[in-house]
Amino acid sequence: MTTVLVTGGAGYIGSHACKALKAAGFTPVTFDSLVTGWEEAVKFGPFEKGDLLDRARLDEVFAKHKPAAVMHFAALSQVGESMQLPGKYWRNNTAGSLNLIEAMLAAGCKQMVFSSTCATYGDQDNVVLDENSLQMPINSYGKSKRAIEEMLEDFAVSDGLESVIFRYFNVAGADEEAEVGEHHVPETHLVPLILDAIDGKRGKLTVFGDDYGTPDGTCIRDYVHVMDLVDAHVLGVGWLKDGKGSRVFNLGTGDGFSVREVMDVAAQVTGGEVPHDVGPRRAGDCTKLVSGSERAKTELGWTPERSTLERMIKDAWRWHKTGGYG
Ligand code: UDP
Repeated sequence: MTTVLVTGGAGYIGSHACKALKAAGFTPVTFDSLVTGWEEAVKFGPFEKGDLLDRARLDEVFAKHKPAAVMHFAALSQVGESMQLPGKYWRNNTAGSLNLIEAMLAAGCKQMVFSSTCATYGDQDNVVLDENSLQMPINSYGKSKRAIEEMLEDFAVSDGLESVIFRYFNVAGADEEAEVGEHHVPETHLVPLILDAIDGKRGKLTVFGDDYGTPDGTCIRDYVHVMDLVDAHVLGVGWLKDGKGSRVFNLGTGDGFSVREVMDVAAQVTGGEVPHDVGPRRAGDCTKLVSGSERAKTELGWTPERSTLERMIKDAWRWHKTGGYG
């Protein structure tokens, strides 16, 4: 069976990717520092604890497992925090990825599926963001990821490193069997915070600004079901295996929903109410991020069939009821 090294495999998206890889006949080896991940989430293949900044540990893991490809999820991903602690993002995300790339090349592994972000596009009002849109990130998280994309381009030229780069829009939902799901400490993401507010697990949700230039004044995002997202990653491994070469794909549905619309659907799906108040804008937030999503559909054959808000919230709610990890 082909081995894929999954950095961040103990995290939210990485753990779902391991499940999808195993189902597709691969052996997913998780490499994770457990700083934000959960050992309990490693259920679908071997686990190697380690930090991307530890080059010797990376070399050891490459020598032991000899992966054919890497899926690279390990990263810090909080927009707000990145504005306060940019060094943490440049070090962990960007310098960590440089270490990983150099370890891959030293081991002769030349294929990476990379988890990038729509935050690399920045705040481009009224533009549908496709893969050719300008990349003008407005927060350190987005900048740290854009820099990794640039590194991948350079190492493609110098060393023949091939990559499929996925620029995610907002990811939500959970595995339908609730074996794995979203659990961040602290939690900063909208859907789990709404669910916590509905069942009284924490106080009210604070809506970060309702004075944006959108119909109801709250920010608009394009939400993708995590299982659809990881299906695309498995297709990405196949794309590279088939020799199709480096390519960038957006992963979004092309439909945008405001914070208030997400709250309304969550109230309908759960039968609860979302206690909330409205606070100031969060630094680094873009008004609207909606994907031009044709390329992944036409070239990769990706269909985000589970990505309705109802389905994502229903699956997230089922996971929420398990109590999560820890
Ligand atoms: N959001 C909010 N209150 C919260 C958390 C998030 O109003 O407590 C908003 C946030 O401003 C953004 C959207 O919900 O417009 C999605 O934020 P999230 O942090 O989930 O993902 P991001 O878009 O930052 O990747």
